[in-house]
Amino acid sequence: MPGGPGRREAADFERPRRVPEPASALEPSVTKDVKPKKDLETCLEQTRGFVQKVVDRFGLKFHPDPEITETVIQGLARNQHEHGVRYCPCFVVQFDKAVDRVCPCKPGLNEEIPRDGRCHCGIFCAQDYTGDPYQPAAAGA
Ligand code: SF4
Repeated sequence: MPGGPGRREAADFERPRRVPEPASALEPSVTKDVKPKKDLETCLEQTRGFVQKVVDRFGLKFHPDPEITETVIQGLARNQHEHGVRYCPCFVVQFDKAVDRVCPCKPGLNEEIPRDGRCHCGIFCAQDYTGDPYQPAAAGA
């Protein structure tokens, strides 16, 4: 009977419907984090500038063996090229912020260089590093 307790109001039939979004509407969120790849030569050039800045900023020097320095530069550049991030080339990339090292990494700067004279990869060294084992110059010497 119209108006009775069993009557359903028009609003009951106007719940918002879930309309599937067209695929094109999803594209920005799917692609927004994907950085365009830089070519390897560009990454190499930029990485050479980057490692020089790290050395200057933290008062370090490169490894006394230039082959080690060059190998690490190439690894950093390759990670920049492949992942858009200069992950440490001496560890397998896990894509986990909690474990991946991004250069220059905190363990390298805060622990390894003061303790060992060099970061794990060896590219960044304390000024008084001459090779392994590290023999820090005596204080005041
Ligand atoms: S150990 Fe750290 S500072 Fe050294 S190359 Fe790897 S990420 Fe860079």
